[in-house]
Amino acid sequence: MLDPVTDPAPDPGALLASVFGFQAFRPGQEEIVRAVLAGRDTLAIMPTGGGKSLCFQLPALCLSGMTVVISPLIALMRDQVRALREAGVEAGALTSGNTEEETEAVFAAIDAGCLKLLYIAPERLASVATLGLLRRAGTRLIAVDEAHCVSQWGHDFRPDYLRIGELKRALGVPLAAFTATADEETRAEIVSRLFDGQAPATFLRGFDRPNIHLAFEPKDQPRQQILRFAAARRGQSGIVYCASRARTESLAKALNEAGHPACHYHGGMEAEDRRTVEARFQREDGLIVVATVAFGMGIDKPDIRWVAHADLPKSIEGYYQEIGRAGRDGAPAETLTLYGPDDIRFRRQQIDEGLAPSERKGADHARLNALLGLAEANSCRRQKLLAYFGEEMAEPCGNCDLCETPPDLFDGTEAVRKALSAALRTGESYGAGHLIEILMGNTNERITARGHDKLPTFGVGRDLSRPQWQAVFRQMMGHDLVRPDVERHGALVMTDRARPILRGEEGITLRRDLIRKAKGRPVVKA
Ligand code: ADP
Ligand code: ZN
Repeated sequence: MLDPVTDPAPDPGALLASVFGFQAFRPGQEEIVRAVLAGRDTLAIMPTGGGKSLCFQLPALCLSGMTVVISPLIALMRDQVRALREAGVEAGALTSGNTEEETEAVFAAIDAGCLKLLYIAPERLASVATLGLLRRAGTRLIAVDEAHCVSQWGHDFRPDYLRIGELKRALGVPLAAFTATADEETRAEIVSRLFDGQAPATFLRGFDRPNIHLAFEPKDQPRQQILRFAAARRGQSGIVYCASRARTESLAKALNEAGHPACHYHGGMEAEDRRTVEARFQREDGLIVVATVAFGMGIDKPDIRWVAHADLPKSIEGYYQEIGRAGRDGAPAETLTLYGPDDIRFRRQQIDEGLAPSERKGADHARLNALLGLAEANSCRRQKLLAYFGEEMAEPCGNCDLCETPPDLFDGTEAVRKALSAALRTGESYGAGHLIEILMGNTNERITARGHDKLPTFGVGRDLSRPQWQAVFRQMMGHDLVRPDVERHGALVMTDRARPILRGEEGITLRRDLIRKAKGRPVVKA
């Protein structure tokens, strides 16, 4: 629980992780949170599923006093209150669905001065007692969910929403309004009715950052790949993100040796050294900072021309946030993300060995899967990325590696079925390495001891080399057909998505280029 006395101004980034369990802000969230915390009236238009609630919940925890949330749906309010309470936040709701005890508890928390978020249905605003209650509770912020309900022309008009403007005037506090409805008329109506016509800070930007070029490459010789990428952009400011502190140091050294001015940056450095790097990056042109994700929150440099990931980020949200530091000025910016099997294993392990409760781990795996799906995508990456954040893009973007060079695809159904049946026939108890040996018909002690050389799948995959099979397995993970079970040493377990393929009801397209690029020749044994 937060103590307003000992924690006067909690850090939003730290609370994001400690209270909500998120590794990174979703697109747009950070800017909105900052505006709200700066005391500005704000209007945020975000697609459904974009993560609006965090944009008022997080500021509510940072502000002293209470935030009142006006929301039209009782079920939604109750869900949010429950989730907040589970996360240790003092939140309550006053709705017609309350039991007497629930209402009593809310009043008691208000009187004790510890309630951080109070959800109320708009109907409550009709009662004069409500204003007194909100004053007594020390309300610092009004958050309005589904703000389009104030629009008489809209489909969800709620007459009581018209009282919100009055409430704002009476309390004299900032108001943050949220909606997924973006059309101009509704927006204008929200502004005139909720903000007295005084333009709020408005966040309408969809998730797309069209000036940022997206590209992924399988990790081959990562140091060389990064050096090549930097060499083609000599003199431009860029960031290289790495998964470990040690790697930031070795890669910065390699870049310097290749004649690029580069510094490393990570959380293990003295605060003063970190500040020096931040200041240099801000001031100098063409400096490269090789960093862990510790570098970023405070960076406000508009002309970062490129961001490279030497290691796979943690999640699709992390990826988006990190590449999003490039090209804030709107001029073209480029990104490159390297990924390989070791990265995937490392990230899975990081999730599994973390302290988060198991549902959260499940969600973190899903966010990593989404990123792998993006890495192994068959077509426009931006369409896939935006789709993940709930935004539809009608046409391929023309500004990603896959739009520029459409990948060479082939019907991978047969290869995938062979791989799946190898996993299934061995009880889904082995990792890719062992399964590949079976597919390639190689004998070793483990294979003969377990009788795997007697399986019908033994040797059915001699047409591909070991690295090529690895590329197949990686794409299978990218398509979420198999998932490694870290508790059983990465044993590959089939997902429901794989079943129709195994049964021959569905096919699957794979990227031939990724398989061809995999080094090594097919081992054709007699
Ligand atoms: P909206 O109200 O915009 O439709 P929600 O606030 O309900 O969306 O959030 C949608 C989902 O996104 C929720 O499951 C929430 O937990 C998740 N979410 C929100 N912010 C983040 C974040 N920064 N990282 C990961 N997941 C997030
Ligand atoms: Zn594209």
